Amino acid sequence: MTTETFEFQVEARQLLQLMIHSVYSNKDVFLRELVSNASDALDKLRLAALRDDAPDADVSDLHIELEADPDARTLTVRDNGIGMSYEEVTRLIGTIANSGTAKFLEELREAKDAAGADGLIGQFGVGFYSGFMVADEVTLVTRRAGEPQGTRWTSKGEGTYTLEPLDEAPQGTAVTLHLKPADSDDQLHDYTSEWKIREIVKKYSDFITWPVRLLPRPGDDADEAREPETLNSMKALWARPRDEVSEEEYHELYKHIGHDWRDPLETIRLQAEGTFEYQALLFVPAHAPHDLFTQGYQRGVQLYVKRVFIMDDCEELLPPYLRFVKGVVDAQDLSLNVSREILQQDRHIRMIQRRLTKKVLSTVKDLRTSAPERYATFWREFGAVLKEGLVTDSDNQDAILAASSFESTHDADEPTALKAYTERMKDGQEAIYYMTGESRRAIENSPHMEAFRAKGVEVLLLTDAVDEVWVDAVGEYEGKPLRSVAKGEIDLSGTEDDKSEEEKERQGEEYAGLLGWMSEHLGEEVKEVRLSSRLTVSPACVVSDSGELTPALENMYRAMGQ
Ligand code: ADP
Ligand code: MG
Repeated sequence: MTTETFEFQVEARQLLQLMIHSVYSNKDVFLRELVSNASDALDKLRLAALRDDAPDADVSDLHIELEADPDARTLTVRDNGIGMSYEEVTRLIGTIANSGTAKFLEELREAKDAAGADGLIGQFGVGFYSGFMVADEVTLVTRRAGEPQGTRWTSKGEGTYTLEPLDEAPQGTAVTLHLKPADSDDQLHDYTSEWKIREIVKKYSDFITWPVRLLPRPGDDADEAREPETLNSMKALWARPRDEVSEEEYHELYKHIGHDWRDPLETIRLQAEGTFEYQALLFVPAHAPHDLFTQGYQRGVQLYVKRVFIMDDCEELLPPYLRFVKGVVDAQDLSLNVSREILQQDRHIRMIQRRLTKKVLSTVKDLRTSAPERYATFWREFGAVLKEGLVTDSDNQDAILAASSFESTHDADEPTALKAYTERMKDGQEAIYYMTGESRRAIENSPHMEAFRAKGVEVLLLTDAVDEVWVDAVGEYEGKPLRSVAKGEIDLSGTEDDKSEEEKERQGEEYAGLLGWMSEHLGEEVKEVRLSSRLTVSPACVVSDSGELTPALENMYRAMGQ
């Protein structure tokens, strides 16, 4: 069999350089990443077996094995999961396949110095490649379950890797790290030490639902009879009593399923008993993924049935406007080979969705008062997505509004709740005023704002694309209509310090001639010319009919080819 040498993609090479020269202090996490990948591979294989997609696979004792050799200074992480074909190895390992990594590199280009780069490793992590933080050579031997041939991949991380087809290889994947020479006094980072391995697995991977076994030392005669030791408790966190699970444990689970290296912003637990029993453990991330608004974004939480992993990205469990939520739902009464088609029609699933949606919305609403800073982070990261629900989920409109905030002229630094806006409304003010536009600045400089500023009437400043749409879908809040300052006739006459009726009449007469002249000369260009209290400084502005598209929305539809 031939061994071929390949070059890493440019991006992959940059990333590897970073890993090799990293001074990132928490190198222990490489093991979490490898165990996490092994666990995913076992989940995938069991699922394939459940679906009869892997007739030749051996699923009798699925597990993860760790083998350390202090003399050779190697550590191997082995699983007997789904494995990879030759083609998959080139696609998944030789390139930068995962999207988190793409984002990572993007930010890396912006962080110019090494310290900045190390900070980024802490934030993103890069899965498989993190092995190069501790190893100067990595070997991966894998065979896809059900396929006859295996593949060996090796690399020193220096720009090239080799691939070699193998006639024989065990099912699954073994990753062997050839550890960098340790400083003699660096006990803390000896990854061949049993206690070190035990500590890391306990800390980061305890909840992994497959056994993680530490093999006894090879050639250690006295220990010949020793059995492999299972290091993790394998207890599903969502099934354990709440007070038994620490926040750190929840966070580690989030990092595993969310493929994120950072702690989540919020953890949400829910346990439903009765005729349809399920447990849910949901996480709100602290950062929006970069592809949240792109079409291929994989949304949804993991679905388990009676502790058995069934699928990633189960879209049926949460509405699209909560697509940033990660987590696990474990249902007791579904069939193990439930399909997407069945899920779409299952009324229990719809019940779960309703319940989870309400729980997420009420959690966010409570955050506003209980943890204003975390709420502010939430809103900055996910506000624009959440507002989509105002248009698509009329049942929960009130709950979404209660969880939402809006920029306003009241306070430039802090967005306001609608409730707070209505409490500040002036005597006689009949509507909640808003203006949509490109940016806060653009809106503030708009002539439409002048009269409102002059009268001290608060205006909401809406700058997300979805804002054009939801205001119409919602229409009113607590009996007060939502009204654009840029549409139709604006009547601020009920509000304090106003011109008298006589004054208006006098003005009407005074300007009648001018208005007539303008109508005549502008002709078809405008519908009507009228005198307005809208402006105090600018001489004129263009206004849409109420109910007509605003210029920004016209642009949006035009861009969509409509
Ligand atoms: P991520 O796990 O976030 O997708 P990684 O860099 O950790 O990113 O892994 C990249 C891909 O390589 C995985 O998505 C998976 O398809 C494949 N892979 C990694 N380790 C294994 C393994 N032990 N068994 C099977 N496939 C694996
Ligand atoms: Mg991974």
